[in-house]
Amino acid sequence: MSEVHVPLPKMDDVPETLFVADELAMKRLAGELIALLHVGDMVLLFGDLGAGKTTFVRGVLEALKWDGIVRSPTFNLMQLFDTKPPIVHADLYRLSGEDDFGLEEAGRDRITFVEWPERFASLLSRTDCWRIKIEILKDGRNVCILLPGELVP
Ligand code: ADP
Ligand code: MG
Repeated sequence: MSEVHVPLPKMDDVPETLFVADELAMKRLAGELIALLHVGDMVLLFGDLGAGKTTFVRGVLEALKWDGIVRSPTFNLMQLFDTKPPIVHADLYRLSGEDDFGLEEAGRDRITFVEWPERFASLLSRTDCWRIKIEILKDGRNVCILLPGELVP
């Protein structure tokens, strides 16, 4: 399997696209990324249905030794995990309107991962979030990681 490495957080880096061959490699990438994050950080996950957003969050939780089942919290919008550090996993696919459903507050003392951030316009304008864009290829995925403060293409 090809190695994946999270680019080190240099703010002047040109966004780098990583090829991620399979599910296991995606989880490993997630395990590398979580080591760079701190409580209060937010990661926006972009990508079509089946791109691997939930797989990425599973990789994070596995790296933090969570041993339960992780599903996309589509109906309840977000799920909290009592890991170290604690995690919020949100899936906004079914979000309608701009109601505050407590994401900001939940994320204050956790690290937050958000699937379908496009559904919550106020998230998209934030410049303090990590952004992970997953593109489905015929075989594998391209993953682009944008650090906080990097220009959003
Ligand atoms: P999403 O949450 O973006 O809708 P999921 O993570 O639920 O997507 O599903 C991704 C699916 O694609 C899983 O069935 C996973 O096994 C498969 N898959 C195949 N190749 C990859 C890859 N390189 N990275 C992530 N998932 C992959
Ligand atoms: Mg999902």
